[in-house]
Amino acid sequence: MVAKFTYCSKTTHPSRIAVVGAGFAGLTLARVLALEGLQVEVFDSVGAPGQRGVHDAHLTAGMMPTVSSDLNFSTQLSRLGCQASEAFWQDLPSEIGWRCGAIQLPRQTSRQADFKQVVARLSALPQAKGWVPHWVRSVDADEASEIAGMALSQGGLYFPCAWSVRPRALLQALAHTDSVTVINQKVMKVIATKSDWLLEFEASLMSDPYDVVVLANGLGAKTVLSESGLMASQNRLRNMYGIAGEVTHLPAEKLGGGPQCMVAGEGYVLPASDGLCTVGGTYALTALSAQCEPGGVQMNVNRAAELLNQPDLPQKLSGMPLSGWAGWRAVLPNRMPVIGPVDGQKGLWLATGFGSKGLTWSVLAANQVANGVLGRPNFMPERLFMAVLPTLFK
Ligand SMILES: Cc1cc2nc3c(=O)[nH]c(=O)nc-3n(C[C@H](O)[C@H](O)[C@H](O)COP(=O)(O)OP(=O)(O)OC[C@H]3O[C@@H](n4cnc5c(N)ncnc54)[C@H](O)[C@@H]3O)c2cc1C
Repeated sequence: MVAKFTYCSKTTHPSRIAVVGAGFAGLTLARVLALEGLQVEVFDSVGAPGQRGVHDAHLTAGMMPTVSSDLNFSTQLSRLGCQASEAFWQDLPSEIGWRCGAIQLPRQTSRQADFKQVVARLSALPQAKGWVPHWVRSVDADEASEIAGMALSQGGLYFPCAWSVRPRALLQALAHTDSVTVINQKVMKVIATKSDWLLEFEASLMSDPYDVVVLANGLGAKTVLSESGLMASQNRLRNMYGIAGEVTHLPAEKLGGGPQCMVAGEGYVLPASDGLCTVGGTYALTALSAQCEPGGVQMNVNRAAELLNQPDLPQKLSGMPLSGWAGWRAVLPNRMPVIGPVDGQKGLWLATGFGSKGLTWSVLAANQVANGVLGRPNFMPERLFMAVLPTLFK
């Protein structure tokens, strides 16, 4: 049985909107809503970007699509997300991010043939018309090396549409949008009144009323929803969990200047920014806190050595202090994000569960939530739209 579902919010003309979380999800949504002429207040427990923001030490991050030969949901969503991000970022100053392209290397050389097959199958699929070669194509070691500007040991897939982005600069620019105000407050609960929503902060302080509240606070969304007594048994957020990890910044000069494009495979290396190449990211599955540790740094250095075919890199960097950034990923078991209204709670929305793809999904999620809040029709293909809803419909 398919449950009946109304996409629109309770009001199509909200006047007071609160967004919880000043990360990629929250600030992108805030800007999208502000560009629609709405006043948006964004609450963050850590601080505003540029002033103790969660991503302040995150030098560069990459946006790269994924592909599968069966065009699964994740592949389709990844393409929609990358296209939405690219369209949105065009308006932002170019020093915030740039289209650098990405070479994806197979994790084992023996799997290079699999990549070629994926591309061949996509070329033959009518639904994937136009994907090859503009979206993705297979490249041999020589072409991959030419694109990367350094000798790679093998070929792989090439995605021309991949971006390298400076998170701190991006988030600062989003926060400086007219009609967006970032407030340093931790949200403990959301409370429904007869016609509005209230936020409860620490020490039981209460906010003014809001027509619409969007929980875009990563892992914290699960806690806020649970603490508010609003976690329904069918909500996909129930199964969301955190995976900590770290990236390491390597001096580009030690990498022969670094690659000109993103090079991914087992991890990734991004082109140099301020003389440093970001390499990442580790998956610390059992970590209780997110922090940079010597073991993680070593793992990232080894990854860069492998990806860039520079076996002597660990030796070159030995004893050198290396900076980095550590954070959390909010992950769902099927790796699909959670975007949409909380069923039965009019005016309450979710945009979270972005895992390792915050840059791929934040603009798509912002557009989707903004459309719903403004009472506009859903623009995503029905099956994809249903797959990311907070409620699991069977
Ligand atoms: C090591 C590592 C490397 C990564 N590299 C990449 C990459 O290259 N490309 C990419 O796309 N993604 C990358 N990611 C994933 C990316 O960081 C996430 O997908 C992204 O941060 C999710 O954005 P978000 O806004 O949903 O959550 P967050 O960025 O986590 O932001 C959530 C915000 O909510 C705030 N908050 C939490 N709880 C509350 C509360 N109760 N009240 C108020 N505020 C609250 C937090 O302070 C935070 O500022 C990486 C992640 C890690 C760990």
